[in-house]
Amino acid sequence: MSGLALLAVMAGLICRFLVWSLRLQFCGGVKGAHKRLMTTWRGLLGMFERLLQITKLTVITNHTGMLRVAYTDAQVKRLAGTMKLLNSFDKIGQRYQYLEKAELNNRVKTGAFLGAIFEPDTGILNPIKHVRSLKTLAENAGAKIYEHTPVSRIERNGNQITLHTPNARIRCKKLVIAVNAWAHQIKGLPRIRSRQTPVWTAQVVTEPLSEKIWDEIGWTERESIEDIRQMVHYFRRTSCGRISIGGGNVTRPHDPAMAKVECKDIWQALEKRLKWMFPILHDVQFDYRWGGPVSVNLDMTPEIGHIGDERIIYACGCIGHGVSLTQLNGRLIADLLLERKTSLTDFWMVNRKAIPWPGSIGVLAFSAISAGLRLWDRVEERSLPRGL
Ligand SMILES: Cc1cc2nc3c(=O)[nH]c(=O)nc-3n(C[C@H](O)[C@H](O)[C@H](O)COP(=O)(O)OP(=O)(O)OC[C@H]3O[C@@H](n4cnc5c(N)ncnc54)[C@H](O)[C@@H]3O)c2cc1C
Repeated sequence: MSGLALLAVMAGLICRFLVWSLRLQFCGGVKGAHKRLMTTWRGLLGMFERLLQITKLTVITNHTGMLRVAYTDAQVKRLAGTMKLLNSFDKIGQRYQYLEKAELNNRVKTGAFLGAIFEPDTGILNPIKHVRSLKTLAENAGAKIYEHTPVSRIERNGNQITLHTPNARIRCKKLVIAVNAWAHQIKGLPRIRSRQTPVWTAQVVTEPLSEKIWDEIGWTERESIEDIRQMVHYFRRTSCGRISIGGGNVTRPHDPAMAKVECKDIWQALEKRLKWMFPILHDVQFDYRWGGPVSVNLDMTPEIGHIGDERIIYACGCIGHGVSLTQLNGRLIADLLLERKTSLTDFWMVNRKAIPWPGSIGVLAFSAISAGLRLWDRVEERSLPRGL
């Protein structure tokens, strides 16, 4: 693995913070948030470099860059606004490139993309290899990992915190709750139950595509692709010659067990959109379909904080961007645990005044937010074929 590639992957993905910083400006008027994000991002580069040197973390990565694409004139206009803002930041912002339709078609041959922002420092990695690599790293450092051991309840008694699991009680002095989209299930600490809600995103993957099809499609650099919709789609050309597409509509099943959900409508919509983008795929089969929960806060912005006092720390709300963000969260939370004041612990995300997810009216809140975002997309994509 190339260390530089991993650095680039982490750094590029973390740049998505920019989007959140913009949302914050709209929602909370947090001036200068994006500048602080950029500073943090630079610090992270150094941090990952050191991490790589020390640990020799083995993750398969591809430094492909990312294309953020638009399908309609309205989306192109918005993309151009984002580009202007990025360019106004500083040298890092200026590394982003705007690609017109013709230039874009040299990379990925589809008439569907009218323009794109190219983020050169971004890339893709194999998530399961990433997780296994982190697990080995932790075990080599002396950590014990117990899988399939759900914590059902957390109690504070005096100086101690007690965790209840099916077979044992565990006592500790400090605790990090990093259960992501499952946080609302933990009993004993009312605050953690209201931080976020699980929202399911779905993906499908084609069968391996023939060389003839790849010649028609191009996409030889395997850039990761994301569109600029509110209900974003994400695409990958996999290392085994398939296309994966995810996103679009999301769902919030009312299943307290958080069991696997069927997302038939969403899978069909994803398949339809992919075939619209690349008509040559009309007879191609889809080999895999699945979905999983991401953690969403009411203002769609990540959150790290203390519960009650400084002994219990939680993190949630990474939505679909947690692969890189959780690296930052881990490093930051280590400083919080050690009660160090560092540039990371000073991050605006820590103990921010986030709005709790409204318990009983949560379903309404979710429906209202997702309907609003879908309407936004429908208006911007009114020139596209109906039913896409
Ligand atoms: C289909 C899909 C596609 C995605 N694509 C991307 C992408 O392209 N890029 C990106 O950056 N992110 C993506 N994400 C999001 C990313 O996977 C998450 O943001 C990231 O995994 C969050 O990491 P985490 O460690 O916080 O939580 P998780 O990886 O969700 O881990 C939480 C862990 O807590 C455990 N747990 C839950 N409850 C309990 C309990 N009571 N007791 C003990 N353990 C418990 C769970 O079993 C789980 O292992 C995607 C997610 C999905 C579902």
